[in-house]
Amino acid sequence: MSKEIRDVFIIGGGINGTGIARDAQGRGLTVTLAEMDDLASATSSASTKLFHGGLRYLEYFEFDLVKKALIERETLLKAMPHISWPMRFVLPYHADMRFESTTPAAKLLTRVMPWMKGRRPAWMIRMGLFMYDHLGGRKILPGTKTLDLTRAPEGAPLKEKFRQAYEYSDCWVEDSRLVVLNARDAEERGAIVLTRTKVTSAERTGDHWTIETEDMNTGATETHLARSIVNAGGPWVEDIVRAKVRLNTSEGIRLVKGSHIVTKQLFDHGKCYFFQGEDGRIIFAIPYETDFTLIGTTDMEFEGDPADAACSDEETDYLLNFANQYFEQTLAREDVVWTYSGVRPLFDDGAMSATAATRDYVLSLDTAGPPILSVFGGKITTYRKLAEQSLAKLLPALGSKSGDWTAEVPLPGGDFPVDGFDALVAGISTEYPFLDPFWARRLVRAYGTEARAILASAKSAEDMGESFGATITEAELRWLMDKEYAQTATDVVWRRSKLGLRLTSDEIERIENWMNTARLAQSS
Ligand SMILES: Cc1cc2nc3c(=O)[nH]c(=O)nc-3n(C[C@H](O)[C@H](O)[C@H](O)COP(=O)(O)OP(=O)(O)OC[C@H]3O[C@@H](n4cnc5c(N)ncnc54)[C@H](O)[C@@H]3O)c2cc1C
Repeated sequence: MSKEIRDVFIIGGGINGTGIARDAQGRGLTVTLAEMDDLASATSSASTKLFHGGLRYLEYFEFDLVKKALIERETLLKAMPHISWPMRFVLPYHADMRFESTTPAAKLLTRVMPWMKGRRPAWMIRMGLFMYDHLGGRKILPGTKTLDLTRAPEGAPLKEKFRQAYEYSDCWVEDSRLVVLNARDAEERGAIVLTRTKVTSAERTGDHWTIETEDMNTGATETHLARSIVNAGGPWVEDIVRAKVRLNTSEGIRLVKGSHIVTKQLFDHGKCYFFQGEDGRIIFAIPYETDFTLIGTTDMEFEGDPADAACSDEETDYLLNFANQYFEQTLAREDVVWTYSGVRPLFDDGAMSATAATRDYVLSLDTAGPPILSVFGGKITTYRKLAEQSLAKLLPALGSKSGDWTAEVPLPGGDFPVDGFDALVAGISTEYPFLDPFWARRLVRAYGTEARAILASAKSAEDMGESFGATITEAELRWLMDKEYAQTATDVVWRRSKLGLRLTSDEIERIENWMNTARLAQSS
């Protein structure tokens, strides 16, 4: 059977794989992407969900990485004002704070001012924030200011000793929705997106690659041909290089696990806290899904299958103790309603500690035959730039000269002004008066202008079909299955949405049953 030879075959449906797929297909290349599980089932749904420069990386003198990410924040915000929004970060400061810190900045400080050992003085934080405000330029996001915590509402949930704080800007992003929207956009432009499809081997055959895949639902195998491969396997990138493609290279990956805990809402303002710990690390406490607070992350070397990463009791206690240094209220294990964990695929640059390993990415192109590009590391924040740079490396080998295009083009549903979220919610609430405020906001946050396509001609809640709890209905499930590659209830309640925080196990089971029946009906 003669098969079409695609230009690019992408292994991995995380943010990097889907971002590259969208960019490449939009340049007129023909793209196939294979993801062995659900889209964003690995690291790309387990992040802290920030489009950020990474304030703490300044202490590691990672100025290029921070600058690149800071510049990118506003570009991304404009392309997806539904799933991303500005957030203010409150960094409490206390003169008695002491830190064990081995960062280059702390070491330099100790060398030139030995009496400062163990401290992160206020002027150093202010200097860092000044750089953060100016390194990347800002048009949308407001700059840093000082807060008097004895008066400001942000001081209320904190221990009394915290009387002063700095407040700066970064952005929130719904990480797994970002992945799905990139995949959808790629598919709408002509890409083939295969989920639950594992790449089992790939070999160079003349001027192209022959790639074998296995359907993880049925066990069926298939052969694909492509002129190039992008290995965007995240934590599996090294496994793909060595076991699936069998390249001869010494490049490696370092797996660093990061876990988060979720509690009921701990404070009622919309700002996020940036807490500094005595161990030199930092954690965030972030308003989450309206009624919850997200606390994370940890940083631990990881060995084993990245799919098995889970938040340990030790990590839960670490995060609780860390937060308890700051919050007036004492948190205990019983307060934790959900945890999640992911593995950072960091390029192995020989750094001593997990916290110190570089967060920047490395793109490695092997041209000993048809090309293969492997992606090591990367942040959610830099995915679009990473895609551009990946294509800059790959295009010459494919003889294509197309230019960058993704900076100004909104993702599906994001075609409204960056400050237009409330107006869109108001408009949709007027058009569909049966929506309560929670439902309307949730739909617009998830689908932006495409919420209208889900609501369609509905005149009442009943017109949306069966309701499964927490405002999720048959109409939405149908959309998620038809347009967003959802196959299981887990895909829906923990990745396309976070409704798992609100639904009972019975309700989730009803969703699973409904989806199974719908799938059977589709295939018969
Ligand atoms: C705790 C934590 C917090 C973070 N917070 C932030 C943050 O706030 N902001 C930020 O910018 N970044 C953050 N990051 C970093 C960011 O999440 C990752 O860099 C990014 O998600 C990596 O995406 P990826 O596509 O490379 O990998 P992944 O999302 O892991 O995708 C790789 C995919 O490849 C698939 N795959 C592997 N092998 C095969 C195969 N043989 N066949 C088919 N498919 C295969 C896997 O199933 C997986 O879905 C965080 C990371 C962690 C762990």
